[in-house]
Amino acid sequence: MKKWEENVRRVVPYTPGEQPNQPDMIKLNTNENPYPPAPGVREALAALHTEELRLYPDPAADELVTAVAESYGVKKDQVFVGVGSDDVLAMCFLTFFNGDRPILFPDITYSFYDVWAELFRIPYERPALDSNFHIRKEDYFRENGGIIFPNPNAPTGVELPLCEIQEILEHNRDVVVIVDEAYVDFGAQSVLPLIEKYDNLLVVQTFSKSRSLAGMRIGMAFGNPALIRYLNDVKYSFNSYTMDRTVLAAGAASVKDQEYFEKTCRKIIETREWTKRELRDLGFCFEDSMANFIFATHESCPAEELFQALRSRHIYVRYFPKGRTFNHLRITIGTQQEMETLIAFLKEYLGQRQI
Ligand SMILES: *Cc1c(COP(=O)(O)O)cnc(C)c1O
Repeated sequence: MKKWEENVRRVVPYTPGEQPNQPDMIKLNTNENPYPPAPGVREALAALHTEELRLYPDPAADELVTAVAESYGVKKDQVFVGVGSDDVLAMCFLTFFNGDRPILFPDITYSFYDVWAELFRIPYERPALDSNFHIRKEDYFRENGGIIFPNPNAPTGVELPLCEIQEILEHNRDVVVIVDEAYVDFGAQSVLPLIEKYDNLLVVQTFSKSRSLAGMRIGMAFGNPALIRYLNDVKYSFNSYTMDRTVLAAGAASVKDQEYFEKTCRKIIETREWTKRELRDLGFCFEDSMANFIFATHESCPAEELFQALRSRHIYVRYFPKGRTFNHLRITIGTQQEMETLIAFLKEYLGQRQI
């Protein structure tokens, strides 16, 4: 090891899902939305003047914050925005998790949490989900330095009912509790109204999944104005101009089209429910998912074999080979037609396998 390497911050980075690019592929591996963003996004981008790009963007992202606050029925000082919810969550870890006690998140969950904890040197513990991959609320009733979990959880899709989240909040009035609602728009119940009651609750959402804007990078946090102020202090100590001019315009246009948003979410939910029935008929088992993906295992065919078989047909799903998830596949909900192609392939593959 070179002398200078002693002073390097060494980290094991998060591994994002692969981004293959084949013309005939069906991409069901990173929970993107199969439908295009709201039509207003295209108009907003077309109306941008290249000339204006010589100027810095608004550091307060006021256009976007205002549109989000109006659409979600909260005040502007209850909203923080960032470059995707990954940026928002990283800022939250840096801002709120500075105690000596370990923060808590489930053993099976979004795999960025332990990466940020390691990066920022935050102690953490990971209470195990039960054998059906459900969060056990009692695991979060002990002393800790903060709590974070997605709802619905990823990659399981399982929703923790609002009343159980409220119990967790009641047991944790002295630490910040973050609920990562990346998938909440696909039918789960949001805890957003609870920010009025709990001044230590942060609700994080993203434009990447339900608003079809993964490529634009927009995320947000809702919470008590004091929490939002602390977040902004850290943001301004790191990078003031996180949201560029294109992002602000596109994000505001997206939020203003509630009808399109509801229509596309509804279509995905319908396709998800259809896919659940078909997968069950084919011998797959899974907990009920309230997200835009299904986390499934097959009664006889190993997940890794299916993953490879699908891959050779250019159908990409996500496979987490380590630990308790080694025999599961996470399948994103695409268009109805994409899911019909997936099911037809599985039917044929599993049928031939039995002969
Ligand atoms: C996708 C995802 C995010 C991050 O999404 P961004 O694209 O960075 O907004 C955060 N949390 C969970 C649980 C996710 O699945």
